[in-house]
Amino acid sequence: MNKIKLKIISLIKKINYFNYNYNILNKSIISDNEYDFLYNKLEILSKKYPNLIKNYYINNINNNLHLTSNSHKHILKMISIKSTYSIKKIYKFEENIIKKNNIKIKEYCCELKLDGIAINIIYKNNNLYKILTRGNGEYGEDITKNKFFIKNIPDKIVFLNYKSPSLVEIRGELCISNYNFDFINKIIKEKYNKIFVNKRHAVSGIIRNKIKNKIYYKLLNFIAHGIGYCFFLNKSLNKFKKHNNLLNYINKLGFETVERKICKTIKESIKYINFIEDNYKFNKYKYLIDGVILKINSIKLQNILGNSSKYPNWSIAYKFNSTYKETILTDVTFNITKNGNFIPIGKIKSINISGINIKKIFLHNIKKIKSLDLMIGDYILIYLSGNLIPTIKNVIKDKRNNEIKNIFYPKNCLSCNYKLSLYKDILKCNNFFCKSKIKYKISHFFSKKCIYIKYLNKKNICELIDDNFVKNIIDIFKLDLNILNKYIKNNKKVNSIYKTINGKVNINIKNFLYALNIENIGEKTLSIICNNIKKYEELFTLNNIYIKDLNKNQLKNINIFFSKIKNINFIKEITQKYINIIF
Ligand SMILES: [Zn+2]
Repeated sequence: MNKIKLKIISLIKKINYFNYNYNILNKSIISDNEYDFLYNKLEILSKKYPNLIKNYYINNINNNLHLTSNSHKHILKMISIKSTYSIKKIYKFEENIIKKNNIKIKEYCCELKLDGIAINIIYKNNNLYKILTRGNGEYGEDITKNKFFIKNIPDKIVFLNYKSPSLVEIRGELCISNYNFDFINKIIKEKYNKIFVNKRHAVSGIIRNKIKNKIYYKLLNFIAHGIGYCFFLNKSLNKFKKHNNLLNYINKLGFETVERKICKTIKESIKYINFIEDNYKFNKYKYLIDGVILKINSIKLQNILGNSSKYPNWSIAYKFNSTYKETILTDVTFNITKNGNFIPIGKIKSINISGINIKKIFLHNIKKIKSLDLMIGDYILIYLSGNLIPTIKNVIKDKRNNEIKNIFYPKNCLSCNYKLSLYKDILKCNNFFCKSKIKYKISHFFSKKCIYIKYLNKKNICELIDDNFVKNIIDIFKLDLNILNKYIKNNKKVNSIYKTINGKVNINIKNFLYALNIENIGEKTLSIICNNIKKYEELFTLNNIYIKDLNKNQLKNINIFFSKIKNINFIKEITQKYINIIF
């Protein structure tokens, strides 16, 4: 428990530090992906251990807030929208709403997710009163005096067909167009020998008036995507019926509104996401975007679903994986796993994404390769899935040339030449005596976390198997000095190994069970099992044991392993002659 506590505290500290830099100092010191990754981690832990979070989360955030003297309170809190990098979670979003609320969703308003600075514009009696950054959601920085940098924020708004509200908040994103971004960088490069590293920095730098020069007049655009507080309208907001109608109305008030599409179903919304993402890769948009936001279009439904403390329950953002890099697939090889599965691995011309150097890419199975229509020599787009795993987005077919080759799928096992079979789209060697499987099994048994024999390494074991001196685990204990000397060219090492295998090796029960390589049983589960057996004889009751902390599958695997006579005989033989288990 202490470990988890420390982990949570460390995560909160990190997130607070990044929040402080981002919200207050306006520095983004890590990528969005990295931030989201940390945040999701914290969220998972906070669900699992709500008591631990309760004590730390709030305190830390409050302690860490340093507001500038220039801050001002939002009338309605500016909450952010829950985001995901996974299409599956978009489906899940709808599924959960339908399941929990027993309602039908007829329409989504899908909006481009603009990557700028979120702001809130307050109008009092029709006149512009304050422009605030999001800040921490409750308080934002007052940037009203710099409004001349921003296009399309009217000083006065006139409500058509409605009685004007005395107080209203218009919300949206402050952005810079590609054209203006290049323009300003050119100027400040010449004048100050500086550039803004990205668009968000540019927006922030300009609005904070970091470079004291009014030539940047109206370089920024405000793009509205909703309403915050609205005295009077809140009561009659239902009159608009749809979020999209509301945006159209905001448009009529004189604001630019976000590019959007109404989609009838979640499937249609995802089609739209894919369309936008494809275009996004080629920089086809006027502003920088980093995803698509789905909002349930019905305002009535939005009100029924309401907000949680952090997010609105009626909206979700799909974020693009920010970095796609192009490279070439140079080869496909196969790794043989301990079970004899042949896993395809793509070799690529090395690239660097977010500081990670990538040379190989995991291709999962044959179906995956076929769905990508992948060939050796293809140009491919790579991204880090979940910010961790290098993944192929797609093949750039326009770039295919005459040098492409088909991927070669082996017909026979590369180790034993046994004919491979296809199981669940994976090539598999079913030969029980396949040397690659035996190599895995034996070298695992004698690896560091198992029965470790000093100086006897994996390479030695594999060579001994190749030359048929070793066919099973017990054979290792029968090796004589002549053979050992043939493979290990060091007298001291040979003597040490020989001495170890000819005495009884003392081994902890957990290491022994780990060495047995029971299907799907990891170290954590083994610790639980070890707490439940106290002496040697109890090993032979594991075929019937019930441990309440283990799940059905784990219990089944343990029970099956210890029901097999072959395994029991092996344990008896090895413990009688070669190994001494310590409980
Ligand atoms: Zn084989």
